[in-house]
Amino acid sequence: MNTLKIAALAGDGIGPEVMREALKVLHAVERRFGLRLEITEAPVGWAGIDAAGSALPEETLALCKRSQAILFGSVGLPDRDPALPKEQRPERAALLRLRKEFGLFANLRPVRLPPELAHACPLRPERQGEGIDLLVVRELVGGMYFGHPKHTEEIQGPQGRIQRAIDTMVYTTPEIERIARVAFDAARRRRGKLTNVDKANVLENGVLWREVVTRLAAEYPEVRLEHLFVDNAAMQLMLRPAQFDVLLCENMFGDILSDEAAALAGSLGMVPSASLGEACGRTRFGFYEPAGGTAPDLAGRNVANPIAQILSAALMLRFSFGLDEAAQAVEAAVQRVIAAGLRTGDIYSAAEGGARRVGTSEMGDAIAAAI
Ligand code: NAD
Repeated sequence: MNTLKIAALAGDGIGPEVMREALKVLHAVERRFGLRLEITEAPVGWAGIDAAGSALPEETLALCKRSQAILFGSVGLPDRDPALPKEQRPERAALLRLRKEFGLFANLRPVRLPPELAHACPLRPERQGEGIDLLVVRELVGGMYFGHPKHTEEIQGPQGRIQRAIDTMVYTTPEIERIARVAFDAARRRRGKLTNVDKANVLENGVLWREVVTRLAAEYPEVRLEHLFVDNAAMQLMLRPAQFDVLLCENMFGDILSDEAAALAGSLGMVPSASLGEACGRTRFGFYEPAGGTAPDLAGRNVANPIAQILSAALMLRFSFGLDEAAQAVEAAVQRVIAAGLRTGDIYSAAEGGARRVGTSEMGDAIAAAI
């Protein structure tokens, strides 16, 4: 068994607390499956600035380059960020830089509402249908966020000088193909349904996007493909989320829909994510982080939910190391602990009989023990 090299960057706020629990669980997986994990921790975000003067210190970046995957907490502190120029703030200087450095073009956000947590979902039970279990696949490095020209200029208006802001939406066929393949592959491994989300009724990009996805579908006969305009997709997520298996979105639509979908899981503390680069045989460089941020309101109090961080580690085992069985063991352990009634504050309801409110570390201990 090869050594699996992992960079663990906990970051700020609740990052170190939830990372500690994810590492506990990874060590339990290591023992159960006889793996060899080489996990090296390094500072990032404000922890990086305080330790080495940069949100992404050179040594941390060098560690990431030597690793096969990055398990990331979160960065940024609202009370400290404004003191820095925008480009030095942790989210830009660390997160965006890492995305770019490692060509992370595919963002995967699985959203699952365990039946036991139906009370935490903002939708009425009848709208939850058979249960919510979907995956948003978002293109991460193209589209409107990165296209050029991109600037604000001053021009002559009918009544004097006015300002005009320009963003440009650009996609090429190879960019659409590589993200669509990630979504088709994911659908094939799940329930075999792919919903392509675009705006082909209005945008040139939407027309090309839909053409490319439709053409690729011939290579995936076991996947049922349907198309939805993004406005309808946003509505359907609220009305009948159980109809979805995998949703494929360009960058901006995915940004919005993945957050809308995350709300369905009842708490940001339950939602993991994976950002992937190009595949290289059975392994693939990936960046794994919870959907939520540093939650300064919870930091240092042992109350944050570590499940999003733990499920991010499961995604890492699956996508970067091809260890599907180990990933499933982590997901099943989370499910068992939820079924046993353990709840951090964000998913606790006094009205739920048999539930027990626990802290971050007790939740992590229970999940590690259930591996
Ligand atoms: P946030 O996600 O930190 O918090 C939003 C809400 O969700 C809060 O009520 C918080 O308590 C709750 N929450 C989040 N994670 C939770 C968990 N694990 N358990 C229980 N509850 C949880 O978003 P915010 O308050 O807008 O941002 C706080 C800071 O985090 C900001 O500085 C922001 O820039 C940064 N941020 C970083 C990332 C990242 O590193 N990827 C992502 C989002 C926000």
